[in-house]
Amino acid sequence: MTSEITKQGLIIKAQSGFFTVETGEGLVICQLRGKLKQGRAHGDIAALGDHVTITLLEDGSGVVENVEERKQALVRLDPRPQGEYQQVLLANADQVIFVFACAHPNPKLRMLDRFLVIAEKQKIPIIIIANKIDLVENAEDIFGLYENIGYRVIYTSAKLEKGLDELRNVLKNKISALAGPSGVGKSSLLNALQPGLGLAVNEISKVMNKGRHTTVTRQMFPLEGGGYVADTPGWKSLALWDTEAAEMDAYFPELRDLVPHCQFSDCTHVHEPGCAVLAALQAEKIYPERYESYLRLRAGQE
Ligand code: GDP
Ligand code: ZN
Repeated sequence: MTSEITKQGLIIKAQSGFFTVETGEGLVICQLRGKLKQGRAHGDIAALGDHVTITLLEDGSGVVENVEERKQALVRLDPRPQGEYQQVLLANADQVIFVFACAHPNPKLRMLDRFLVIAEKQKIPIIIIANKIDLVENAEDIFGLYENIGYRVIYTSAKLEKGLDELRNVLKNKISALAGPSGVGKSSLLNALQPGLGLAVNEISKVMNKGRHTTVTRQMFPLEGGGYVADTPGWKSLALWDTEAAEMDAYFPELRDLVPHCQFSDCTHVHEPGCAVLAALQAEKIYPERYESYLRLRAGQE
């Protein structure tokens, strides 16, 4: 009888029931212990980014024995005939990096607002990247408002290799979820940081974008300076499925601070007298375009 060897690790790749676990002493490919599969009808039991305990088998593979409770997770709701299924895109991300371009394609800031709400709800720290600053005169004219609200914005040009040191520092030793529309320069930025990285990440997301019924590989990639980055495509289809209209103001930092000053505790900030948000709007202390996003997302529109 050989005694069982147990190890702790991080799932860095998940593909059709196989999990690649970084143990600190190398990678082990694992499957789930049978008893863990109970409850799998409702959502992913183990997923990219999960911290797990595994036992090693004699052939060098492993078995996932236990999955640690998630700090949080980026989840997509997948309607299936047997009920809704929660797909975990990435568990335990330290931060999410939203990449948008200053131009080509035109920055869709209403989409960014929607992404921000999803990340705020998950309580994941947020970084915004304004890429392609070489294409506009003043990128701060476009993205500066987000800095004023309190978000960190990193201005980059993958083409001119600007802002890369700041980006590298932000990514260091963290697990970062990357998101943003296609064509904004995500792969170019990653390649500029680390040769080959953008290509690797892009290959994965292309496969993922083919649809939810094809075999899905989710993977995070190690950074030379420490840390990991994972593409998390499909934010456009990440619904605000369990978000009530009444909680929406909590996910707009500049509104959140005003809410206690509204006359009514259940103020919707749409028409009420004594509304601190409407007063701030009137006084041009909040951005009308952000308020528009609030109204639209509150109404459950895209
Ligand atoms: P992704 O779809 O977000 O991964 O975007 P890509 O990295 O494939 O970039 C899309 C296009 O934008 C490519 O033609 C890149 O060469 C170009 N591009 C990326 N970053 C920059 C930049 O900072 N400035 C300019 N002018 N073009 C860029
Ligand atoms: Zn109000």
